[in-house]
Amino acid sequence: MTVFGPRALALAFCAAIALAAYASTAGAVPATEAVRVPVPKPEEDAKFYAFLKGFRAEAREAGIRAATYDAAVDGITLNERVRELNEKQPEFVKPIWEYLEIAASDDRIAKGREVLAAYRNFFDGLEAKYGVPREIVAAIWGLESNYGRIMGGFNLFEALATLAYDGPRKGYGRRELLAALRIAEREKIAPSDMTGSWAGAFGHTQFVPSTFLAYAVDGDGDGKRDLWRSMADALASTASYLAEHDWTKGESWGEEVTLPAGFPYEEADPEFFRTMDSWRALGVTTAAGEPVGRGERRAALFLPAGHRGPAFLVFGNFGVIMRYNYASAYALGIGHLADRLRGGPPIAGAWPREETPLARDERIAFQEHLARLGFDPGPADGILGKRTRGALRAYQKDRALPADGFATRSLLERMAGETAPGG
Ligand code: CA
Repeated sequence: MTVFGPRALALAFCAAIALAAYASTAGAVPATEAVRVPVPKPEEDAKFYAFLKGFRAEAREAGIRAATYDAAVDGITLNERVRELNEKQPEFVKPIWEYLEIAASDDRIAKGREVLAAYRNFFDGLEAKYGVPREIVAAIWGLESNYGRIMGGFNLFEALATLAYDGPRKGYGRRELLAALRIAEREKIAPSDMTGSWAGAFGHTQFVPSTFLAYAVDGDGDGKRDLWRSMADALASTASYLAEHDWTKGESWGEEVTLPAGFPYEEADPEFFRTMDSWRALGVTTAAGEPVGRGERRAALFLPAGHRGPAFLVFGNFGVIMRYNYASAYALGIGHLADRLRGGPPIAGAWPREETPLARDERIAFQEHLARLGFDPGPADGILGKRTRGALRAYQKDRALPADGFATRSLLERMAGETAPGG
């Protein structure tokens, strides 16, 4: 569970598969980020300590014991590396195929199969209790911490206090700092043992503190919830979280499909759910070329790289995975890695590798061109949401192009070369 996403925002699924959203998953694949020693700035430090002093009163009011607070903040400083990462706006987005190659790398597949075999009995129990497939839980474990190998080396209190002190995530930092204090108090964990990512996610499956308080369970039955040292607690908490967010038992996350020639691409949208029967009627087949399953079960068509790339029908469980980390690329990474752990094939469709994702200024230019040509994409904010997709579809239809609503470099170049009506 990377950064600020999930629980805190409680966003609905529909808006979800927003294609630009996968920018936020840059952190989902554990990075080899080293913890740099903060550069001391005496003046700033004085302000930070004043903040900690002030926050002590708030924590006390919220019911945190003075001793807990003092032990938690003892020796922490304003962490410059956290501030740097907090301010960073990723300008360039990793292409989804590169993201998926990392998410479902040979190494991550091999290690995942190893842990599934090694802890077979544990996973049997987990599946029986929560109804979430073991491969999904293992895939989250694999993507969040490389199966417990990279859990983040920041002092949780230092990271969260730094976020709470200033920058764009103050509210998040304050809330999670309080939650982390409660964990230290309730679970009797030494604050110095509470380490995590710069954004405050921790343990085998990278929960944030408030999620821990709401959803963590004791998976090994020792009476404590410890997501750092107990892999059983962490994986049970993850399965419990998905179950609590309405994971549909016995249903997959989705499947790769093939679309027939002349397919009406305007149907491919995260918000357009249709029954399997109607996808079948539109000629959608499995990657192996068989007609897709029958029935009233509803699915949306997800084209992570537009009409020239692979296509997936995604079910409600895809949205449940996004509750863990609010990004469609993440959900696809988890779903695909889980399939591979089960022995499934690589993605069959070819990726349009020359269509590298648009950088933020190019996404803004994209919206400006749509507006200039008479299609209303909403504010030119670089976020290619529903309105921009709608405007792009209208443009594509008008120009007799496949109306997938997917912004590409070639479309940007094409629009740049067009003259505005009456211009
Ligand atoms: Ca336990």
